[in-house]
Amino acid sequence: MDLDALIRWLELFRDRVVADEERLTALDSAIGDADHGANMARGATAVTERLAAAPPATAEAFGTTTGMALVSTVGGASGPLYGTFFLRFGAAAGQVATLDGAAFASALRAGLDGVVARGRAERGDKTMVDALAPAVAAFEAASDDVPAASAAAAAAAREASAATAPLIARKGRASYLGERSAGHVDPGSESTALLFAALEEAVG
Ligand code: ADP
Ligand code: MG
Ligand code: MG
Repeated sequence: MDLDALIRWLELFRDRVVADEERLTALDSAIGDADHGANMARGATAVTERLAAAPPATAEAFGTTTGMALVSTVGGASGPLYGTFFLRFGAAAGQVATLDGAAFASALRAGLDGVVARGRAERGDKTMVDALAPAVAAFEAASDDVPAASAAAAAAAREASAATAPLIARKGRASYLGERSAGHVDPGSESTALLFAALEEAVG
């Protein structure tokens, strides 16, 4: 993957988040504070604006620009977590202009590790980690074929996000609801599914 593909990935993510803003907010209104759609639409728009204003020359710069834009514009719990994901992604990818499938997989893994270190959520806690962890694992398992790996990651994230519905939240705002958080899909898992759907589209 070259830098144009990475940038296209986040432009397609922005398109999906903006199109699904109301749906993400409706999910967050059921078990949170009804701002996840607005948070992510604002953040993803800022990301693409900054990538266009200062086009990155390396994958590390791509991650830094993206992560900083997310940290400074998304707010809430998800801003620092998505921001950490891309800052760690970039740091792991390093000062290169292209990533093969194995390097991309390593960068995704570093991003996931950063999210877990920062948010302390485990799989099953009904957070974005529930979608992110299986998506990264699916990508790793097929990383010698980037389009196939991306499609597998997107499918894994979509299925894992849907599977958050019956769970009781143990992290984040939804955890304040206790058992009443069951019966609703986690909004952050849904935005993570959009991130991997955008990846599949960007490399397909
Ligand atoms: P806030 O809850 O502050 O309003 P958002 O609505 O933008 O922030 O994001 C909520 C999402 O953040 C949740 O749906 C969940 O996926 C994710 N999240 C919250 N806390 C954590 C955590 N500790 N680790 C991982 N993800 C988390
Ligand atoms: Mg919220
Ligand atoms: Mg909020």
